[in-house]
Amino acid sequence: MFRFQRAQCALEFDYKPDRTLSFGASIPRRASMADTIFGKIIAGQIPCHKVYEDDRVLAFLDINPLTRGHTLVIPKEPAPTLDQLSDESAAALGRVLPRICRAVIAATGVREYNVLENNGPGAHQAVFHVHFHIIPRPGSNEGLGLRWAARSLDQGEAAELVQSITAALQKAP
Ligand code: 5GP
Repeated sequence: MFRFQRAQCALEFDYKPDRTLSFGASIPRRASMADTIFGKIIAGQIPCHKVYEDDRVLAFLDINPLTRGHTLVIPKEPAPTLDQLSDESAAALGRVLPRICRAVIAATGVREYNVLENNGPGAHQAVFHVHFHIIPRPGSNEGLGLRWAARSLDQGEAAELVQSITAALQKAP
């Protein structure tokens, strides 16, 4: 069981209970293609059950599926985390992600699903190459286990955050 807790905010994942998470551990700035298992899959050095491919994107079945149809959608660009991904790869991913979701729904007959993208070891990322999980949710005890203990947004904190996030976006869009 993984738990992220700050103030009264907790987000808890039930999946992969044996995973050891290391908060604050360093994230590679930029992997070379050969550095990760997904780079090797893209290069054809390791096999996968491919469901989709274009110039920038590859999608294949997860080797340890949470549920039937669990699919990974990855950019071919070897960015370790989403914030390090180029606009071109992001656009290519965004264009095909809904289409692949529809195909997974059609293949599994399961209409509800989660799309998950982990960034950093403390956030449950094990493979440092951006990947979106499409995880069918056939029932309440199957799929991504998630407990979302939300708190109220503090108005003062919100104003401060809006200012600092918009300033950061203007500096480095
Ligand atoms: P993360 O925790 O990094 O978001 O998830 C990594 C995912 O990659 C896991 O769900 C894991 O099962 C999957 N995975 C790891 N190695 C391989 C592999 O060699 N082939 C495939 N198809 N999936 C893999």
